[in-house]
Formats: sequence, structure tokens, C-alpha cells
Amino acid sequence: MTIVNVELLQSCSSRPGREGRDRLEILTTLINGPSFDAMFRPDVIDIPPEHPIYRWVCIVDGCQRPGSGSGDLCGEHEIQWSRERARGVGKAAFVSAATGLPRYVRVEDTACRICPDRPIAQSELLLCRSHQMRWFRYQQSVGEAAQFDEWLNSQSPLPGYGTCVVAVCLSRAHAPLGLCARHDARYDRDGRPGGAMLPVRWWNRYERIGEPVPIDYADEHRSAAGAPPPRRHRAAAGSICSGCGRWWPRRSSGDCSSTLAAPGRNAGSSGGSVRW
Ligand SMILES: [Zn+2]
Ligand SMILES: [Zn+2]
Ligand SMILES: [Zn+2]
Repeated sequence: MTIVNVELLQSCSSRPGREGRDRLEILTTLINGPSFDAMFRPDVIDIPPEHPIYRWVCIVDGCQRPGSGSGDLCGEHEIQWSRERARGVGKAAFVSAATGLPRYVRVEDTACRICPDRPIAQSELLLCRSHQMRWFRYQQSVGEAAQFDEWLNSQSPLPGYGTCVVAVCLSRAHAPLGLCARHDARYDRDGRPGGAMLPVRWWNRYERIGEPVPIDYADEHRSAAGAPPPRRHRAAAGSICSGCGRWWPRRSSGDCSSTLAAPGRNAGSSGGSVRW
């Protein structure tokens, strides 16, 4: 049973100005109560694969792949099941006879064959970006005599960039910015809010010679120069832009660049359909 703090409820109605804060306090009290499932308390909710209600892993014994769509079988077992069903096999018989499959490992989640803490840059050589660049340079200098295995044995592992800084992501960061390849692409797609950038040719200018790579933030430029640099944000129509927090109506391009290029101007007051 859940016990609600009555004093908090009363204060909520008598002081309307405090309603938001009081509601938050009530919510916090409820969340910290004994009847609230502790699984939902952390900021990042980790649901076990075989959770009795929110199970997300394939129901075939030992299968590590997630169920596809609203189904309880992974994509591969779903295909196998539809074939077997056409031959008159029942689902229970199929599930008990099927063999579990290992989970997919994305290319970017594979470690460099030299550095355990760096992800590979591409699947052919299985090398991180630094070792791939070193291999290309070595090939250029030695020519056809370059032997991959020989070169491999002469290399040492490099320190990684840590785990991706996105709270829910467990992938290795692929560059000094601290994002994995997928979140780096997502950050770019969202218009790089905050304007965090690595210097041009950062690998050649810094990492190759063992220098720390500086990270440039647009927000820092804003305080130094007194005016914000133009920033481009894009949001899907009918959503909130993750770059500037503005809501974009359904019939809009979702491109905030024109408004941000003119600092201090509110798009809503200048005839646009956007509000801050
Ligand atoms: Zn499966
Ligand atoms: Zn490496
Ligand atoms: Zn990530």
C-alpha cells in the first residue's frame, strides 16, 4: 500500500504558487516509498532481459537477441517460426526445439585488435582510427614490402577515450569528444547543441604526436566574444528541438538556424510559428 504525505497535499492546495514544487516532493516521497519498484528509481532504468512483465529478450531458451517489434521471438527465430508454422508445427514445439542465438555485436562495439579500450574504425582491418592511420602511413613509407602481421607485432595498445558520455550508452567512445560513433552521428544530426567540436585534423596535429586534444565549445566562445555564434539545430516537425528546447509545430521545417543566426530575436515575435 502507498502512504501519501497528507501535509504535503494540503500545502499544495493552500499555496498555488508552490504547486509544482510540492507535486515534485509528493512524487519523490512516493518513489522512495517501500511499494515503489526500486528498478524504476535510478535516472537510467535498466530492465533485466527476462523481467516477468517487461521481458524484452527472445523466448527461445538461451537466445540473447531482443524480441522483434511486439513479438516475443527475435528476428531470426521469427523467420524460422513462420517457416515451421507453414509446415504445421506448433509454437510450443518450435520454441522448445529451437537453439538460442548469440547477440549481434555492432561494428562500433568491437575492440581494436591492438587496443582493448578503443573501438574499431571499420570492420575490414579491425583497427582503431589511430592504428588504422598508422598502418596507412607505414604502407606509404614502406610500399609493397609492408607486412601487416609484422607491423601489428611492433604496435602497442593506446589508452581508450572511456565509455560514451551519453548516460544510457555502454559503447566505447571513438574520439576525444567522449561519444561513441553512433552518438557522435546523432549529435551531428541534432545540430551539435553547445557546439562541442574537435580541432580540424585533430589526429595529425595532436594525438599522433602525443599531445592532449583540446575540445572547442561554442558556449565558451559566447562568453569570450560577448555574442553567441550561429548554431544550427534541427528537430522533427511536431517535436521539441533537443538543441534549443523549442517546440516545432507539425507544419514546420524544424530548422532553427535562421532564428539563431540573429541572436536575441525571438522567432515567435517576428511572425514565425515558433515559441520559446
Ligand atoms: Zn531468438
Ligand atoms: Zn588501436
Ligand atoms: Zn554512445
